[in-house]
Amino acid sequence: MTSARIGPHAPEHVQRLSPYVPGKPIGELARDYGLDEGSIVKLASNENPRGPSATVRQAIVDAAAEVTRYPDGNGFALKKALAARFGVTLEQVVLGNGSNDILELATQAFLLPGDEAVYSQHAFAVYPLATQARGAKGIAIPAHDLGHDLVAMRAAVTPRTRIVFVANPNNPTGTWLAPETVRAFIASVPAEVLVVLDEAYNEYLEPSQQADSASWLAQHPNLLISRTFSKAYGLAGLRVGYGLADAAVSGMLNRVRQPFNVNSVAQAAAIAALADTEYVVESARLNRAGLVQLMRALDAMRVTYAPSHANFLLVHVGDAAAAYESLLRQGVIVRPVANYGLPEYLRVSVGLPAENERFLSALRVALGR
Ligand code: PMP
Repeated sequence: MTSARIGPHAPEHVQRLSPYVPGKPIGELARDYGLDEGSIVKLASNENPRGPSATVRQAIVDAAAEVTRYPDGNGFALKKALAARFGVTLEQVVLGNGSNDILELATQAFLLPGDEAVYSQHAFAVYPLATQARGAKGIAIPAHDLGHDLVAMRAAVTPRTRIVFVANPNNPTGTWLAPETVRAFIASVPAEVLVVLDEAYNEYLEPSQQADSASWLAQHPNLLISRTFSKAYGLAGLRVGYGLADAAVSGMLNRVRQPFNVNSVAQAAAIAALADTEYVVESARLNRAGLVQLMRALDAMRVTYAPSHANFLLVHVGDAAAAYESLLRQGVIVRPVANYGLPEYLRVSVGLPAENERFLSALRVALGR
């Protein structure tokens, strides 16, 4: 009785939110369909199928011994490592509970009810969610070939716009914009509008395609770069990401974050992961091989997909709800993307070669090919 009375007292913009839908957990599928957990393949959340490197695993074990203590709320050691890596000052680094936290903090720090945030159609779902959670207005700009139409996005910036989100590469489409194009866009945006450049999948790009975006900060104090240890570094479960920005911007994010938003094990793991550059390069190499494995087999099946610059592929299957269901029954979890306005597609994360093969044979069954 009381719950029915209290709900309507949440702000209307909160009541209207549709919660983020994550990939189906393995345990849940096992329970729902009576499957053995060990037989399930999850290619639904763009995780690194190799997991973290051996040195990172050791750092996690070592850090676990200290969990009775609060973490360093300023994340000094991790910030120092990141500052050295990117040639910025400690003050320019913000740590997040995943890079999702960085996106949330940006909206908390810069959006008031009634303000506007601009993003692309089919862009990462957290941009509209975080915007609406502040009572602000999300402006979704129609995509161009599934990717961001930066010209239209620039044209949508008004005096009410406080944030523009750019995902490069974007999830779930895998589309990518050349660094010089992104930089020209940032230069074209008014200096009082924050550009959040979400580079969660940056490490999967060919080195020649990776933007040295941190070097742009000196000239663009309205730029916030968001990166993560969840993807190529294999630490999605620990929740650690970071933002790089002018100290004026990072200072605002630091005012609104929780004092201990990144736990101590995550901080230790991230420091070790950052040092292990070889592991990330090898993960990216295996990912490209996995993409080729998937694309060749899909070509043979005459199934089309969007060219991907990340660790997943957006596959055109027609009746995606039916294909998703069939894959689940066969113990393969992928991601439906109807909530992204893509009801005919499924997004599959690149797994280990045997996992990719499991997906491909299950898809043959699902599509009757
Ligand atoms: N940005 C993009 C584009 C993503 O796809 C994701 C994860 N799905 C995130 C940010 C957030 O990831 P995390 O919080 O694990 O860093």
